[in-house]
Amino acid sequence: MKRPVLAANWKMNNGPSAAKAFMDAFLAGYAPRDDRTIIIFPPALSLTTVVAAATGRNDVLPGIQNIHWAEKGAFTGEISAPMAKDAGARVALVGHSERRHVFGETDAQCAKKCLAASRANMAFMLCVGETIQQREAGETERVVTHQLREGVSQTPNLISADFLLAYEPVWAIGTGLTASAGDASAIHTVLRSELRQMIGTRSDDIPILYGGSVSPTNAASLLAAPEVDGLLVGGASVEASSWLAIAQTISPY
Ligand code: PEP
Repeated sequence: MKRPVLAANWKMNNGPSAAKAFMDAFLAGYAPRDDRTIIIFPPALSLTTVVAAATGRNDVLPGIQNIHWAEKGAFTGEISAPMAKDAGARVALVGHSERRHVFGETDAQCAKKCLAASRANMAFMLCVGETIQQREAGETERVVTHQLREGVSQTPNLISADFLLAYEPVWAIGTGLTASAGDASAIHTVLRSELRQMIGTRSDDIPILYGGSVSPTNAASLLAAPEVDGLLVGGASVEASSWLAIAQTISPY
């Protein structure tokens, strides 16, 4: 994937009609460009709408916000990686902080989801991040490196085509509080070094995205921070105009 990687996580917003209107407005203003990759994570019900709208746009990848680890079976309400792939998802989001903290998703479950995506030949983006209590206790580095190691424990052969990492401090998600560019850079440097210890310098191609109250106003300074290879955006990605401004952010790459 070309860096920067700019990913929109719509969360539980933009059903099929709104998704269609969003994609029409976004793609009308966003001419194809080969200097970055855009990923859109719609709610599952809107996935095929996004896929249809993005047909022919290799720079705009549809994704899925969550998958189950099983291929199929008696898991009412869940969606498997092969199903998401069949519907056109190119990337699976795993371990988003709302999945971990609202729905109780564990590191072990994240590991199974990463494996499921990998088996379905779908790229996956693992999210890691500390709570405010962990940050204040000076545990940020330990928490994020542990989440990374555990999350990919069943998929050790990481390659940049398949794997993306997102650092999303829990205290910054949807709160309007953003890590400073320096703070984000410092944690990204820790994660980069952990990846190097795990798989050597070929990990340098793995994009590490920052997420947490990114907006059109702060996107450029975050993207300019060393080791920040992209942005994962929630609230500010729900409206096409705001997302368009972020997607067009001037980057140092
Ligand atoms: C997210 O949902 O991944 C996120 C970072 O949300 P927000 O941008 O609203 O903080």
